[in-house]
Amino acid sequence: MSKPLMRIPYTGPLPPPLVIPATANTLTGAAKALVEFLTHQRTLNDGNGNNKTVLLTGAGISVASGLADYRGPNGTYTRNKTYRPIYFHEFVSSHEARKRYWARSFLGWTSLHKSHPNPAHYAVRDLNKHALFSSVITQNVDSFHNRAHPNLPVIELHGFLRSLVCLSCRRLMPRDEFQRWLAKLNPAWDNFLKELLETGALDTEDPEERRKKGYRTNPDGDADVPGAPYHTFRYPACPACLHRPPIMKDGSKGRVEVDSDGAWSEKSDSGVLKPNVIMFGESIPTEVKSQAEAALDAAGGLMVVGSSLATYSAWRLVKKAFDQKMPIAILNMGGVRKEAEFFPNYESIVDGKNAFRASLAAEEVLPEVVRILGAGNAHR
Ligand SMILES: [Zn+2]
Repeated sequence: MSKPLMRIPYTGPLPPPLVIPATANTLTGAAKALVEFLTHQRTLNDGNGNNKTVLLTGAGISVASGLADYRGPNGTYTRNKTYRPIYFHEFVSSHEARKRYWARSFLGWTSLHKSHPNPAHYAVRDLNKHALFSSVITQNVDSFHNRAHPNLPVIELHGFLRSLVCLSCRRLMPRDEFQRWLAKLNPAWDNFLKELLETGALDTEDPEERRKKGYRTNPDGDADVPGAPYHTFRYPACPACLHRPPIMKDGSKGRVEVDSDGAWSEKSDSGVLKPNVIMFGESIPTEVKSQAEAALDAAGGLMVVGSSLATYSAWRLVKKAFDQKMPIAILNMGGVRKEAEFFPNYESIVDGKNAFRASLAAEEVLPEVVRILGAGNAHR
């Protein structure tokens, strides 16, 4: 039995990026080599008809949509130094941790909500018109792939923020609806959010800019809302579990209690809603893991875009592709975890047919690949 895949942040140093072939050091050179890589797979036939490329994407592909990358081009953390992601066990076991998480999430949701897929996502859509991709596996939880190319299957390795999942009954609930509910339960925060939206304080990631525009934070990096510290933040219980208590593992009935406004009460032992994403310290569901592996097995090549493969789940997929002798392409700004392992003898590689590596922006390179291939050659 294989051990469960746990999502853990990797904080070690990353190697300097390789350039394969040597001509992939410019936008045009990289785009031409990628055209070779993608079209060459199509000419091959492994006997099973697996001649398309599976795409694996990470945070780097969404940077141009205005979302912060987990790591910057130099492999260092670019976010607020006080920022620490919440771990699954904290979220599940601590009411206080959930209040803090939801307070932050309440303020952050509008920024995510108004951001959109960028030219890199649309280039994937356009490349798929040439029948080059079999599917997309993404580590991103922003749903941009689904929005940009609804006809190309997407496996969301780390879940998705557009929904919540109840930890007791596993029902999903739309995040938009939940946001309106949070606003009603937390009027002081709702007013504060409206002010921030008016001043534009949430349009910038720069802490100093934000402070000037009225986004005050306390020493822990939490929003300082006048008269409403984050521990006063309230969140709703799962409506289904509130209506009909869930059955617990031991067969007993769960207890879901709410205050007079409908906010989850500490007297409850179930009915907790969680964002439907795989948090750090949480295992990827076996079903999702199997889907990702099946997608890899059904492809002739693997292309990674915007991931330093810092999470083991992603690195492991590329390692599997390498062990299966699949051609590998990596387009990522900055180094990639143990990347030299995937390109032995890379110095002797002269074209992009079976291997590709460039450290350039996806939203520039991918549209250029589309341009070179031309819309006229589209298969459909
Ligand atoms: Zn429920």
